[in-house]
Amino acid sequence: MSIPFADLKKQYCTLQPEIDTAMKQVIEKSAFINGPFAAVFEEEFARFCSAKFCIGVGNGTDALFIALKGLGVGAGDEVLVPAMTFIATGEAVTMAGAKPIFVDVDPATGTMSVEDLRRKISPTSKAVITVHLYGHPADMNAIDPIAREKGLYVVQDAAQAHGATIDGRPLSKFGDCVCYSFYPGKNLGAYGDAGAVVTDNADLAEYIRKFANHGRNDKYDHQFEGVNSRLDGLQAAILSVKLKYLDQWTAQRRAIAAIYKRELTGLKGLILPKSHSWAGHVYHLYVVRCANRYSLQEFLSDNKIATGIHYPVALPFMEAYAYYRHVHTDFPVAYAMQESVFSLPMYPEMTEDQVMQVCRAIKTFCDKY
Ligand SMILES: *Cc1c(COP(=O)(O)O)cnc(C)c1O
Repeated sequence: MSIPFADLKKQYCTLQPEIDTAMKQVIEKSAFINGPFAAVFEEEFARFCSAKFCIGVGNGTDALFIALKGLGVGAGDEVLVPAMTFIATGEAVTMAGAKPIFVDVDPATGTMSVEDLRRKISPTSKAVITVHLYGHPADMNAIDPIAREKGLYVVQDAAQAHGATIDGRPLSKFGDCVCYSFYPGKNLGAYGDAGAVVTDNADLAEYIRKFANHGRNDKYDHQFEGVNSRLDGLQAAILSVKLKYLDQWTAQRRAIAAIYKRELTGLKGLILPKSHSWAGHVYHLYVVRCANRYSLQEFLSDNKIATGIHYPVALPFMEAYAYYRHVHTDFPVAYAMQESVFSLPMYPEMTEDQVMQVCRAIKTFCDKY
């Protein structure tokens, strides 16, 4: 029996009647862009995030870009971003016309290093984007006060962290806004591209809503030039169905993480992910570290177990950012991570038998090598 890395088909099978009905309603109402289904989801997701406002947009990358535009970030500004993340975090800064400045990460969690953040802040720094990597929140209790002291805006990239908390408080209570992706493979995923910005700031919310819809006040009344990045009605209706299950799915992810921890603790050559006592980790990914991960990957693949690497190249070392001429010693922690991180299968529909099968295979490998 093979074990996939994630299983969206299985999830659809359990939700099929509800999803199919929701999609049919959107099509019958021809409510394809923004519209009533998007408005309902925005309200539901704002409530889920304990935030005042939620603006649906086209995808998570746009959510970050539009949030930066809303905060007035642009040419001549620097935005601090963690070195270990998906490229979208850096891209959004460049899209806004600003310059990404990479910050090394915390060895325990891979989220932004507070010490390196202090070192990298300059007079041209305008904002910081924290990434709640793999579902573990960045240390916002430390980062928010530094940003306030230095006059920096704080945008959170929660593309991997729907429902994560810090000291039991929702992410929306930190920083200026929180950006989400609903890419199909995320903890809350649409059936296509979708994203959202969540904030308690009414002015920011109003600007973002206009900017994402051609700077529009009303039909053919455009206050400024914006972009076309809106939430599809179909995606919104699907997300509304799925949102009802998100807490349950998060609990299932945590239960799987607990089994991995119980079964894999103490194995030679394997380092398990850490979760701080203050962190409400939502385990988008279960990322271990292993010096000979490619042999382990091959061994698991031979045992029909799919795995991933998030990420094999940290941002400063990517070809896309070669113009910075960064070297490995500039970001020692991110470099060590890119050389060792290894993601095990993790999805709510994974059965205990499947988790145990993965654990047995890893034990066999660790005993042998
Ligand atoms: C997925 C992801 C994004 C981008 O989201 P899209 O919806 O694919 O544009 C941004 N940041 C992180 C950390 C992500 O994992």
